[in-house]
Amino acid sequence: MFLTNLGSQFNYVRVFSNLFNTRRLLSLLCSLPLEYFLNLKLTSFPLCINLLVTMRCNANCKMCFFKLNKDHDYEELNLNEIRKMLEKVKHRRPTIFIGGGEPFLREDILEIIELIHFYKLKCGMVTNGTLLSDEKIEKLMRLQIDSLIFSLHGPALVHDSITQNKGGFERLIDTIEVTSKNKKKTKLILNCVINPDNYLFIEEVVEIAQKVNVDLVRFEHLVFMTKSELKKNDEIINKKFPHLNFRFSTHKYELENRIDTEKFTHLIRKVKKKYGSFVIFKPLLNDVELKKWYSSDLCSFRRCFFLWHSIFVLPNGNVIPCQFLQDYILGNLLVDDLEAIWQGDRLNKLRQIIRKQPLPGCSRCCKL
Ligand code: SF4
Ligand code: SF4
Repeated sequence: MFLTNLGSQFNYVRVFSNLFNTRRLLSLLCSLPLEYFLNLKLTSFPLCINLLVTMRCNANCKMCFFKLNKDHDYEELNLNEIRKMLEKVKHRRPTIFIGGGEPFLREDILEIIELIHFYKLKCGMVTNGTLLSDEKIEKLMRLQIDSLIFSLHGPALVHDSITQNKGGFERLIDTIEVTSKNKKKTKLILNCVINPDNYLFIEEVVEIAQKVNVDLVRFEHLVFMTKSELKKNDEIINKKFPHLNFRFSTHKYELENRIDTEKFTHLIRKVKKKYGSFVIFKPLLNDVELKKWYSSDLCSFRRCFFLWHSIFVLPNGNVIPCQFLQDYILGNLLVDDLEAIWQGDRLNKLRQIIRKQPLPGCSRCCKL
């Protein structure tokens, strides 16, 4: 199993490596441990800017935590504002990873990608794949986006029920098939978020992925907290850091008896053995961690490095440290400079806290 896991990690890095500028990636690999462990005040410019271009979505996934934020009706940066942002950061060579909501609800999404490539920056995107006409796919492949992640959450009935979008599975599969026929150097990844409705169907998901010819299947463990965990987490934050005033934007789930971890562990082993490095689980959990993840035991000994290499930009230009801390606004790109935000006190304060010990709510974070 150790060798299978190693093979999966290696393939994962291989598939995703085309998403990063090699020189930036190598320099980060050298600087990040120093900056993290020596607790340096200055942190190298983010390797990846996650640009959420819209929060609108034509699906309504049961486990989507973006829709849980009541303020998610954001204004959206226009093309010109995005251009100004890219103009300022282009010389630092960050990867721009486009997300949402569903990015294809923006009429100008292809122009945004064109702009990113015009500045010679690497570009990736995640989409639910239901809004792309053949013409759009052709254009997208001509733009040679570096990486495209499609969200698929199970076989037809399961996927449509989870996304609450009837016919979504069929449209998604058509899109992936046309994309895979037209692609040149774009890496195609299928992403499946594990949840109680689909965890027994992971083998079927891999079979579909093989049929539609993607480069990798990634299963992401569900990021969630139970009501009581959320309450406990908020109490700790309020008590320890009353001045910071933020909460986690995570899914609230009561999991008791809904994911059978024994069954799931066997299934994961079977899938890994059969499909090897074509499949990756994120994070890669051992059996004990997997059991803890899907029980009410919020505790992790893993470290979070995310705040040292990546950042999120909300559709209105607000900058946040990661997608689970949507209330922890660091600044806005319409008025603030990203470099100043990145090196600023507010983010540094959070880095100090997380470096000492991730918060209880971080325990089930897919970035660990
Ligand atoms: S497709 Fe993505 S953004 Fe849309 S509802 Fe599903 S998880 Fe949320
Ligand atoms: S571990 Fe915590 S701080 Fe780090 S990315 Fe996850 S939620 Fe954010």
